[in-house]
Amino acid sequence: MENHRIEVVYQKGLQTELDAVAQRLCDQAKLAAKRAYAPYSNFSVGAALLLDNEEIVTGNNQENAAYPSGLCAERVAMFYANSLYPDAKVVRMVVFVDIVAEADLVPPCGSCLQVIRESEVRFEQSVEIILIDRNRFLRAESVQQFMPLSFSGDFLLSKNNN
Ligand SMILES: [Zn+2]
Repeated sequence: MENHRIEVVYQKGLQTELDAVAQRLCDQAKLAAKRAYAPYSNFSVGAALLLDNEEIVTGNNQENAAYPSGLCAERVAMFYANSLYPDAKVVRMVVFVDIVAEADLVPPCGSCLQVIRESEVRFEQSVEIILIDRNRFLRAESVQQFMPLSFSGDFLLSKNNN
C-alpha cells in the first residue's frame, strides 16, 4: 500500500486583476443572479459561460416548492448552452454569489461539478472556473481542481462508440 497526494491549484484576488473578458463574464453573472428564482432559499446565484464560438450564455438558480425539482445556476447555464449550441465547447465559467466579505467564496455543488466534468470529457476541453462575490475571485484551470478524483463517463462513451 502506498500513499498518494493530490495538489489543488487555484488563484485568489480582486476582480480588477482579471482580464477584460473575465470581467465581462463577472458582470453577466451578477446580472443573471438578479433574475434568479430563489424564494425559498433567498440565495441567488448567477453563472456566465464563455463558449469557444465566443457566445456568452448565462443561468441562475431556479427553485421549486417540490424541493429537488429546482436546479442550480451552474447547471441551468451548462444545459442551456448545450441546448443552444450542442457542438460548442464551454471554456470559462464565472459563478457569482452575493456573500459577505468574510465568508469563503462558494464553489459549485457536487452535481454541478459532475456536469462540468462531463463537458470537459465530452469536448476534451478544460473549463476554467472563476468564483466571485462583489469584489473577490477564486480561479482554477479546470473542474478537476475542485473534484480531482471525479467519476467520468470516459469508459462509457468509448464503450458506446464501439
Ligand atoms: Zn449545483
